Amino acid sequence: MQGTPVNIIVGSHVWVEDSEVAWIDGEVEKINGQEVVIQATIGKTVTAKLSKIYPKDVEAPAGGVDDMTKLSYLHEPGVLQNLKIRYELNEIYTYTGNILIAINPFQRLPHIYDAHMMQQYKGAPFGELSPHVFAVADVAYRAMINEGKSNSILVSGESGAGKTETTKMLMRYLAYLGGRAVTEGRTVEQQVLESNPVLEAFGNAKTVRNNNSSRFGKFVEIQFDKQGRISGAAIRTYLLERSRVCQISDPERNYHCFYLLCAAPQEEIEKYKLGHPKTFHYLNQSKCFELVGISDAHDYLATRRAMDIVGISEKEQEAIFRVVAAILHIGNIDFTKGKEVDSSVPKDDKAKFHLKTAAELLMCDLKALEDALCKRVMVTPEEVIKRSLDPQSAVTSRDGLAKTVYSRLFDWLVNKINNSIGQDPNSRSLIGVLDIYGFESFKTNSFEQFCINFTNEKLQQHFNQHVFKMEQEEYTKEAIDWSYIEFVDNQDVLDLIEKKPGGIVALLDEACMFPKSTHETFANKLYQTFKTHKRFIKPKLSRTDFAVAHYAGEVLYQSDLFLDKNKDYVIPEHQDLLGASKCPFVVGLFPPLPEESSKSSKFSSIGSRFKLQLQQLMETLNSTEPHYIRCVKPNNLLKPAIFENVNIMQQLRCGGVLEAIRISCAGYPTRKPFFEFINRFGLLSPAALEGNYDEKVACKKILDSIGLKGYQIGKTKVFLRAGQMAELDARRSEV
Ligand code: ATP
Ligand code: MG
Repeated sequence: MQGTPVNIIVGSHVWVEDSEVAWIDGEVEKINGQEVVIQATIGKTVTAKLSKIYPKDVEAPAGGVDDMTKLSYLHEPGVLQNLKIRYELNEIYTYTGNILIAINPFQRLPHIYDAHMMQQYKGAPFGELSPHVFAVADVAYRAMINEGKSNSILVSGESGAGKTETTKMLMRYLAYLGGRAVTEGRTVEQQVLESNPVLEAFGNAKTVRNNNSSRFGKFVEIQFDKQGRISGAAIRTYLLERSRVCQISDPERNYHCFYLLCAAPQEEIEKYKLGHPKTFHYLNQSKCFELVGISDAHDYLATRRAMDIVGISEKEQEAIFRVVAAILHIGNIDFTKGKEVDSSVPKDDKAKFHLKTAAELLMCDLKALEDALCKRVMVTPEEVIKRSLDPQSAVTSRDGLAKTVYSRLFDWLVNKINNSIGQDPNSRSLIGVLDIYGFESFKTNSFEQFCINFTNEKLQQHFNQHVFKMEQEEYTKEAIDWSYIEFVDNQDVLDLIEKKPGGIVALLDEACMFPKSTHETFANKLYQTFKTHKRFIKPKLSRTDFAVAHYAGEVLYQSDLFLDKNKDYVIPEHQDLLGASKCPFVVGLFPPLPEESSKSSKFSSIGSRFKLQLQQLMETLNSTEPHYIRCVKPNNLLKPAIFENVNIMQQLRCGGVLEAIRISCAGYPTRKPFFEFINRFGLLSPAALEGNYDEKVACKKILDSIGLKGYQIGKTKVFLRAGQMAELDARRSEV
């Protein structure tokens, strides 16, 4: 990041890399050519290459600085140290220029989000008060009012980092600024806020990483009228995790709504023939049923109230939970071999009971439901025949039905909320808030991770372009020459993924359309096509895995399920079954397909549709002024006051924070207003400060007296190249 330190001498305070805690500090004891021996403060002696150590700012304020750009030495260890000091003081927010870094406190900090705080931030100049999400929302709102331009706030970070909580704070603050003081029944802003608990009930679940993990991406667009009042809103969601509906592993849970419903008042339990979650296959694959500190019974009622507010009628709510209950019963329909070869029938009386209950709740024909699960219609040129499925295929069919119904239900909710809140066609401008999954790299990575990382590449590109632009603007403002700053682009990764034709998404679609493809043929096609692509790697020991060198690191993908997961396909038998339900709500989830696209003729893929959605999102974002919030998860135990250095460093890297700093370092990372510069370095050239001196001239004299090259003097600040501040400090300590 910062060039080789040239001013390291015996006695210098430095940072040196450490495999366990990322960076440790110490004092230089000996220098032998390129090798440095350091006496670390933690008590050990380390030897390191001169090029691998960084100067430590011994004069850094004890409480840290609220903006990284105020650090005298802008480098990785300095950034990490600053965050750590602040986190220990419960200062969870820190700026890096315009980026807000938010470190999850994993505890409710007193007062930091209360009404008084909102009042304080309202209209306060950015940077005047401590860094805060409210400050970011306030800047976005004021920019929108003053310039009439749309703004967006992009919140990112890994699972459990605090994106959704941050998003809710932002929305609450925007509702505070743009709300109607009067409380005439349901206001738009109330509806906007209450959409959160509804979507969380149906789209969030406990995972290993987060007890309330959003299993979908979300972009909330809040529309404002000429007076700056909220006049409408639209929610767009991305890629709900479908597999969770029928498959979970210990200690995770299925979507919250299933447990909420099982904790509903007795009357509902009887009506839907429910019982303890442990009696349902879709829930009892994991032994986790309850969450510490959370009452499902309470949350059930809270969800119903939130549904009232967003405009979901009593009748619709009844239908929604009826469908949720039906899914639980569907999951309990087990099969066994039937009389004919390769056929299946409900396994026992219990299975028959759940089959019957599911049919009743979905208001469809019992026999038709059984057939839709156990049989497939084959159309041959001669005749239409019903072919039986073996028990295993029937289970796959059953799970497919559950997943389809659930994802349709989720889409229905989003649609309903949008219609009910309403869009303002005359809206002057909007503020968009993006809460979307961060970069993922697990032991096994499948199609979902691929899509998520694709999203992050897109956002990273947007981010880099923006950060670069902001830097340029600062230089232009100060009339500084910046022409030689190089800009790293990740366009090559994006081409690899989304190029048409020939990118991975396109090749996957091709494979899905060709009946004989398998994941082996798909992987082979990738190997051939991208043999020489710099960002594509074929692992030596696998014949079906492939790796992509993402901006945030290499990720190894297992191609096994890519084809299946990419197919956006509702089994026609399922469509026909539910399309014929006597319940208008259920029919509404399965509107008749347009003629030509029915049956197998038209292929649609999740990958391509997602790519299109992303494209639309980027278009929206490009028409707004962006603001970035990078959420950081300080530890994997989800506990307060534990700051894991290496883990956090990795997140700063993935979130582009280090990249932003790198871009900044490629230019003039250190800026000091003239008077500050003179205060600190005036003693280097007392002659420059004689008499009635001009600050700008004096700064130049000081710099020249040292013989520094490459710095620039702006209109109000001195701009120093990376490492020059350290050089100045070194000189100062010699005086
Ligand atoms: P995912 O990607 O899994 O949805 P996320 O980034 O949205 O994760 P959140 O659900 O927002 O993460 O946060 C996880 C948990 O961390 C919250 O449930 C809450 O307990 C805690 N948390 C997050 N932010 C804050 C905060 N500002 N103050 C207090 N607690 C917080
Ligand atoms: Mg979330």
